Amino acid sequence: MKNIAIVGAGPGGLAAGLILSSKGYQVDIYEKDDRIGGRSKRLYLKDYMFSMGPSFVVYIDAYKWLFEAAGLDLEKEVNITRLDPIYQLNKKEDRWNVPGNPEALLQDIETKFGEREAYEKFMKREAKTVAAMHPVMVKPFHSRLSLINKHVVHFGRFVGFGNVERKLAKHFKSQSLKDIMQFQTKYLGMTPQETPGFFTMLSYLEHFDGIYHIEGGVPHLLDVMATHIKRFSGKIHVDSPVEKILTHNGVAKGVRVGGKDMEYDDVIVNADMPKMVETLLDKDAQNKYTKSVVDRKKYSVSAYMLYLGVKKKLDYPMHTLVLSDDYAAYTESLKANAELTDDMSLYIYHPSALDAKFAPDGQSSLMVLAPVPNTDADIDWDKQKTLYKTKVYDQMKKRLNFSPDDIEIEKVFTPSDWEATGVYKGATFAMKHTMNQLLHKRPHNRYEDVKNLYLVGGSTHPGSGLPIIFESAIISANLIDQRHR
Ligand SMILES: Cc1cc2nc3c(=O)[nH]c(=O)nc-3n(C[C@H](O)[C@H](O)[C@H](O)COP(=O)(O)OP(=O)(O)OC[C@H]3O[C@@H](n4cnc5c(N)ncnc54)[C@H](O)[C@@H]3O)c2cc1C
Repeated sequence: MKNIAIVGAGPGGLAAGLILSSKGYQVDIYEKDDRIGGRSKRLYLKDYMFSMGPSFVVYIDAYKWLFEAAGLDLEKEVNITRLDPIYQLNKKEDRWNVPGNPEALLQDIETKFGEREAYEKFMKREAKTVAAMHPVMVKPFHSRLSLINKHVVHFGRFVGFGNVERKLAKHFKSQSLKDIMQFQTKYLGMTPQETPGFFTMLSYLEHFDGIYHIEGGVPHLLDVMATHIKRFSGKIHVDSPVEKILTHNGVAKGVRVGGKDMEYDDVIVNADMPKMVETLLDKDAQNKYTKSVVDRKKYSVSAYMLYLGVKKKLDYPMHTLVLSDDYAAYTESLKANAELTDDMSLYIYHPSALDAKFAPDGQSSLMVLAPVPNTDADIDWDKQKTLYKTKVYDQMKKRLNFSPDDIEIEKVFTPSDWEATGVYKGATFAMKHTMNQLLHKRPHNRYEDVKNLYLVGGSTHPGSGLPIIFESAIISANLIDQRHR
């Protein structure tokens, strides 16, 4: 059977490894860290457990499709709970536990904003957008010609012009309602002003498709995937940084690890694509994508993180979104990728609300995420590491009845720290999802500059976010499988 090297054991690399090993390919996954997971890895501080990154599980179907592609049933592998409420929206004086039950949600929309009819009509169309999007997301885009396809043409009817902010302005009157349907662009590390309008489907996915919790969090899901990879005879080598992708006459031949060259039929790269160009490919293997070309691409914002072990049981729900008082000013400041604001928005993940694995009895584990400019901005994170923390705590004190005195242990992670882990420019949510960085204009799953080299992960098609990354793995694994059949 053919052998495949995978560079990186993040969600994308593990997903590709799971599918290919289930089909009998000899898979070797090389991970530079001492553990799997990448930006989604598990972290322990004393007896508290954290997920470094992902916590929102939406578009659960894509998780199921990944497991199905490996002959597995997601629901038999992990315990999944549909959340109700889906989250608390914390805006000025208002604390709204957004119902996970669609009928209760519609009633709340009428009571709070008086726009049930407009909202229902809008969401019906978003349901159609999601259905039209799916066949496009699982299809590779090798060139502009890939656009000539009935699914792409059908999806095109839902794309429209304009950004999320403008699209919502056409449909709704209440600014508060618009705000709660546009903050989801944060998941792309973008602002509503720059995100293409069709991404309003993200609010449909949350409100109607649901938000889920996987027991043990995303790191547990990745552990389950790793267990199956090994059961299928795949190998995962941690503490094994790939030093170079070996190429000959524009064809990938293998990888160099620990100074040793190893031959493979195909190489899949899960490491951040711009980092691959910068560090893993020789100059003579670069054609379309050189260092200066990838440098000119547009990258998402970054994330200033606090991982907190709290010595008392908090009454927060699993997910809380604190929205800035002046949300428009806040998103404009992020879009400029230039400065830090005191009136920041925050996302607070409190898994110990429902999952005892995350904190000792009577205590709480909190992950706090503040979207901040990436490392292109002129911000001295050595200085801001502590200064900004005080500001984040001030916002939490104001909005959440939070006291820093209750913290037993804390870890701060800044954009510079993300960059040091191999995330290009510390842009935690990958290459931006602007129209000219999507579909055939995003780095292709079958890499353009080198034959037998494939990409998975946030900076390739279809894009960032776990369900979407899993689709990149399905595409790349299928391309490899088709090649060898
Ligand atoms: C703070 C944060 C919160 C997020 N929240 C969510 C969320 O709630 N829901 C969601 O769906 N998504 C979320 N995301 C986005 C996304 O799902 C994750 O970032 C995800 O981990 C990205 O997966 P990936 O496979 O693209 O890359 P990564 O997770 O970055 O994995 C790449 C792997 O490659 C390894 N590697 C790199 N170079 C080499 C080398 N030379 N040799 C060997 N190994 C190498 C890295 O160490 C890493 O393990 C979040 C991201 C962050 C940072």
